[in-house]
Amino acid sequence: MDACLFCQIANRERPVKMVYEDEQSVAFEDINPKAPVHILIVPRQHLATILDATQADDRLLGHLLLVANLIAKQIGIAERGFRLVINCNSEGGQAVFHLHLHLLGGRPLSWHPA
Ligand code: 5GP
Ligand code: ZN
Repeated sequence: MDACLFCQIANRERPVKMVYEDEQSVAFEDINPKAPVHILIVPRQHLATILDATQADDRLLGHLLLVANLIAKQIGIAERGFRLVINCNSEGGQAVFHLHLHLLGGRPLSWHPA
């Protein structure tokens, strides 16, 4: 998936403000933040959408959630609260077809998912 934007970012072929890296995932600041904290948590493995995950990916999916926990604690928004979002396909608002979690926070978040 050489042409995939988030594969390129995970491979350090495109500059981003990286906030976390490990063997399975990377996390970086969203280029168009919707909140004071808007970080994308991305598996190194290319999965186009959450629908492409299978039982074989269950540990990876759990890992991504734990990375979100870790980052939220590290940047000091864990107690105040935050939101994790996965958009899927067109009606879910997915624009980049490499699985990612949005970690949003830093201000009170309203709930207007539509
Ligand atoms: P989606 O709508 O697919 O759930 O979210 C894609 C996100 O990726 C958007 O919030 C968008 O701002 C972000 N994004 C798109 N291109 C880039 C980029 O080149 N760099 C960074 N850091 N974020 C990007
Ligand atoms: Zn990819």
